[in-house]
Amino acid sequence: MNGNGAVINRFIRGVGLIRSEHHGWYIVNGQNDVVQRVSDAVGVGINSSITILHSYRYNAFGQEQNQHRNSLNPTGLPQPQNTNPHRYRSKVYDHEVGRIATMFRQYCMETGRWTQEDPYWGSHNLQSSPMESGNLYAYVKNNPVYWIDPLGLSAEQPTYRGLRLEGTTEIRNRMLEYLQMLTNYTLTIDANGMVSMGNRQNQNRGQTLTYGNTLMRSIIDSRFLTSIDHERNHFGGGSVRPRANGTATPGTGSGSGAIIIIDLDWAGTEYAFIDPRTGRYFYDHCDAVHILLAHELIHAERYSRGARVISNRSTGQGMVEFGLNPYTVRRGIWPFRWNERRYERRVLQPREELLTIGLLNVPAGIATENRIRAEHGLPLRAYWN
Ligand SMILES: [Zn+2]
Repeated sequence: MNGNGAVINRFIRGVGLIRSEHHGWYIVNGQNDVVQRVSDAVGVGINSSITILHSYRYNAFGQEQNQHRNSLNPTGLPQPQNTNPHRYRSKVYDHEVGRIATMFRQYCMETGRWTQEDPYWGSHNLQSSPMESGNLYAYVKNNPVYWIDPLGLSAEQPTYRGLRLEGTTEIRNRMLEYLQMLTNYTLTIDANGMVSMGNRQNQNRGQTLTYGNTLMRSIIDSRFLTSIDHERNHFGGGSVRPRANGTATPGTGSGSGAIIIIDLDWAGTEYAFIDPRTGRYFYDHCDAVHILLAHELIHAERYSRGARVISNRSTGQGMVEFGLNPYTVRRGIWPFRWNERRYERRVLQPREELLTIGLLNVPAGIATENRIRAEHGLPLRAYWN
């Protein structure tokens, strides 16, 4: 409400903050920081699109990092229209004093300290950390990467967040190498296998990996847990399933996280690709494990948002009629004859797969396997098999 008592905005709250009439839908990460605001979807189903209204980046203590020139803020100036009060930890941000208020205390991002002493100081402080017992203004044991304090009373660990690599140290390190190929930001892994994303570096021979960066950022910043397991000779090289069986509700943001299984020694699958010079199809073996990982991460990211398209071959639900190239039906016969019209077939294929590869109309800014292939200079997949 404003000073005259008129309602000037409404907020919808679910598990966390979900939507405001004036500021759009809130996308939050594992620590409940508002990382993006997006518009309502325009259009229906696969042809719908959303607009990113604003993106937020914070340092670990909550100081905003994106008051500089970038694609979302081309002038690099603080944006007067960006009056959204919910920022770091989804708390109400007071522009004038640069603080957020929790139920019990105010927190100052500049100093990384509470501005009032701990109202709940007691033996638990002594037990949980010498930091909190000695300093009544310390914020989450000075480690906001791991701890949250939603009320201003005591440090808690967020339940689900980010990306975890499973297996031995050797397996995890191999996974990390493949993941690192997808992004310009330095990835590190902690003792529990949790992956963090550091500063931008000129990884990958100076290529700008826009879609890989976005994909890794959204997986690592997710409030849901995605994990990756290695399994030798895993069918198809990789697979993904929602973490909590069937609880994801499409379109609501109520997701479940995901479990990815990947064969790190994958020898490749025969795919149809598009020759960019002729626009014609050809078959080849693809043994790029990082692309396979990217494909499964795209599924996982959608599962986490509760946006998975469930496909049912018998009812046709979630399936789409898709022009299949002639060589699908001629597979195994080499060399092929180029006569696409003659052999054209239209078959039902799962929409979730076509969206993941990028064979349907996917809004700009959203990662697909083919967009990631393009930024790595690899040929584009022509269809799902
Ligand atoms: Zn897939």
